[in-house]
Amino acid sequence: MAFEIRPYPEWSWSQSRDQIFKDCQRKYYYHYYGSHNGWLRDASEDQRTMYRLKQITNLYMILGDGIHLMAEASLKQWQLEKSLPDQKEITEDVRFHLNQAYKDSQDIMRWKVAPKKLKMLHELYYGDELPPKRVAQIKERLNLCITHYFESETVQDMMNCDEIEIKEIEELNTFFIQDQKIYVKLDLLYKKQDKWIIADWKTGNESEQNDNQLLLYALFLHDKYNVPFEQMEIRLEYLLSGQSKTISIDEDELNQLKVDIVESMDQMKQLLEDAAINKPKPMSSFPTNPSKLNCWGCNYRECCEEITLQKREA
Ligand code: SF4
Repeated sequence: MAFEIRPYPEWSWSQSRDQIFKDCQRKYYYHYYGSHNGWLRDASEDQRTMYRLKQITNLYMILGDGIHLMAEASLKQWQLEKSLPDQKEITEDVRFHLNQAYKDSQDIMRWKVAPKKLKMLHELYYGDELPPKRVAQIKERLNLCITHYFESETVQDMMNCDEIEIKEIEELNTFFIQDQKIYVKLDLLYKKQDKWIIADWKTGNESEQNDNQLLLYALFLHDKYNVPFEQMEIRLEYLLSGQSKTISIDEDELNQLKVDIVESMDQMKQLLEDAAINKPKPMSSFPTNPSKLNCWGCNYRECCEEITLQKREA
């Protein structure tokens, strides 16, 4: 199928989109609209910049990506061979992934030419060096996460139960709520006898947002496989602490989640000039929401007028 160039991105909803919208609408504009088509040869300088900035990552995200890639590869190996890779070997793989991101980030000019292929760490793009405390924390987290991955309830299930059927590993899926497309990607979905289990790897601390994310997955599972809610188990694997948390599925909460999603979509759509083609209103309609929490780690500091203003006043 030929690649179609669209003047505006396709409309869809996701929990990360909702989070960015709530944090700062200007950031939301840069991320979902300003950067669109920034990869094309004839893109404007602004589009190129926003597209490039969108790709910036950080040490925590690289660790999270590395752990997810490791989990995906090891579960696929389990699916094929009923064996898991060696713990030391995969620790080295994730460490390599982190080191590679550091190396890539040292050459900004090279990264600017291929911002999607190479990595750029926020810590180095907007700072001079990696904060030593953070580096030490990441090293400690890497070892903890991998040790707890092997000890997790989910991996123990794989190894000790014969009646496991893996259904999905990191598959990107869509489903619809009120005719609106929703993107979801389950880390792992498997069946154990007649129970359907959704497992999600977390490399950060516990938060309520994670519960909501998993409830959304329950809606997806019900929609795609027609699984009754009472036959589902949704499980968060907190790899930092080694705790497994099972989320109870309450139909009132699921209904509330749907209401919240529709409300979030409505708010996003109020900032569209033409909803049929997802054409946004001008950038000035997307207010900035400066705060230490929002701006400190924001990828778009370089192009945001709020930061320019703060620098002028300092
Ligand atoms: S720097 Fe702050 S105000 Fe500007 S887009 Fe980012 S979060 Fe919003």
